[in-house]
Amino acid sequence: MLGTWSFSARALGAAWPGLAQGGKALDAAVVACTMAEEDPAVDSVGYGGLPDADGQVSLDGCVMLAPGRAGSVACLKRHRHPVRVARMVMERTRHLMLAGEAADRFADEAGELREEVLAPEAAAAWKRWMEQAVGDALAAGTAVEREGVIDASLAPGPRPVDPGAGGPLFLSQERRWWGHDTIGAIVRDRAGTIAGACSTSGTPFKLPGRVGDSPIIGHGLYVDPAAGAAVATGTGELISAVCGSFLVVEGMRAGKSAVESIRAALERIERSFSLEPQHQAAFVALRADGDHAGGALRNGFLYSRQDGQGCTVSPATVVLRGD
Ligand code: ASP
Repeated sequence: MLGTWSFSARALGAAWPGLAQGGKALDAAVVACTMAEEDPAVDSVGYGGLPDADGQVSLDGCVMLAPGRAGSVACLKRHRHPVRVARMVMERTRHLMLAGEAADRFADEAGELREEVLAPEAAAAWKRWMEQAVGDALAAGTAVEREGVIDASLAPGPRPVDPGAGGPLFLSQERRWWGHDTIGAIVRDRAGTIAGACSTSGTPFKLPGRVGDSPIIGHGLYVDPAAGAAVATGTGELISAVCGSFLVVEGMRAGKSAVESIRAALERIERSFSLEPQHQAAFVALRADGDHAGGALRNGFLYSRQDGQGCTVSPATVVLRGD
């Protein structure tokens, strides 16, 4: 089992016993993401996730076993577990992706509990953002107000740095809301089946309606049993623009190692954008033969690996830039 960021170690650990007893890869990937979605200490996934500029949490997620076996949801606002709902889209419909209010209605009909999605800590962080960060950004001219919604997306911020403790990704607590910490999990079970899942609340304080890479098949997650799997985290706009996870898997299909494939996708991002200091993009990849790696544009990305020997949290195998 592989997961993005050090906080995924807890989630993988929770899913491990079931997998070790012969459980299926997809069940384990869903359990791992569900754990993170439930954890109020994880501030970019599920219940703890930071809301959009309107103060509303909207959650995205997807699951994938193969090009013909995937499901996804975007902008869930009344259900905490996008990955579980994405699995139902895959298993109970002929569609790949549901979005918005209709996706919440689908979840209702599928029997998912309606739950509060905004944790008190996340609500307090939104209030602080409104008071401080937006004030700063408006004063600096990097935020605009449109129809009562503040777009501070042009305001610069520090990028996420994982200190390895499984917690928040910023040294300065006041600025941690600019971060990214989607959970992505890739699991290979005893039968050799590979499954992936990805769950996020997206960019903190995003413009309402914004959807990043995470729920989009080929962007935030791609799995093809013939080649391998990749999952992404970081600035969704960078990752989506190069179909990041698909690009990594295609590299492995062409015979590259996991780390070479990640490096090539990161180089594509670097060539395609004029990178800003807060930009980060990271991938975790598993080749069909077990070769695996994690890599990032910049320092500060960690990934977790859980197997029969236990859990390890490692720095990225490749980091493209020293800045
Ligand atoms: N990739 C996610 C998004 O852009 C955010 C993240 O990984 O933190 O929605």
